[in-house]
Amino acid sequence: MNKITSHIYMTNGLRGTGILSTNVYYITDTKLTIIDTGYKGKLSQISRDIKKLGYSLSDVENIVLTHYHIDHTGNLLKLKQITGANIIAHIDDVPYIEGRLPHPCPKALKHLKFMERFWNPDPVDVDVKVKDGDILPILGGIKIIHTPGHTLGSISLHIQQEDALIIGDLLANTFKLSLPSREFTVDIKEEIQSINKIADMKFNIVCFGHGLPLMKNANDGVKQFSVKLKKYHS
Ligand SMILES: [Zn+2]
Ligand SMILES: [Zn+2]
Repeated sequence: MNKITSHIYMTNGLRGTGILSTNVYYITDTKLTIIDTGYKGKLSQISRDIKKLGYSLSDVENIVLTHYHIDHTGNLLKLKQITGANIIAHIDDVPYIEGRLPHPCPKALKHLKFMERFWNPDPVDVDVKVKDGDILPILGGIKIIHTPGHTLGSISLHIQQEDALIIGDLLANTFKLSLPSREFTVDIKEEIQSINKIADMKFNIVCFGHGLPLMKNANDGVKQFSVKLKKYHS
């Protein structure tokens, strides 16, 4: 487990921060908040992390999802059953998390069918449906930024007190900053607009669904990436 700030911790997959792992984040406050839940089968690792942080499973009050993909929601149902935590997600991703709509990624259908043989999604009811600008009453206020494109309801979380952003799959940093998988991204134009939106913000740290965080003056790195993108996509 990596300490990012005194209130943000990150676990990563069995294969470190390689392509096949998804990061799970913990926000420590009077209670515990989990951001994304990784691939199915990581429950024991998450439980161990929670104990290492000095909390018990009953201290998990909220689970926030950056988006519905199965590598971020794999342990959601079990965690919900064990902790009774509130599940929080953007309103546009709710039908997919709750299993009321099939995943809208025609280009990825073949891969998805294969993946779902191992990581079949379990529908879970969402308790709190958020939208752009909402503030979660966690650690003095976590602001929701709607960053659609990868999925319709993808969100980034601005943890204001820590000057940090958690952006899910808006960008990845497995080897270097990169766009998320094209096959699993529903609208690339919207995706680029969302990156530009984040690039115009000021923040010190940025954390990704895949790969290591940028720990200092991170908005400069994201800004440079967005400038490069404009050259190739204009
Ligand atoms: Zn994704
Ligand atoms: Zn992902």
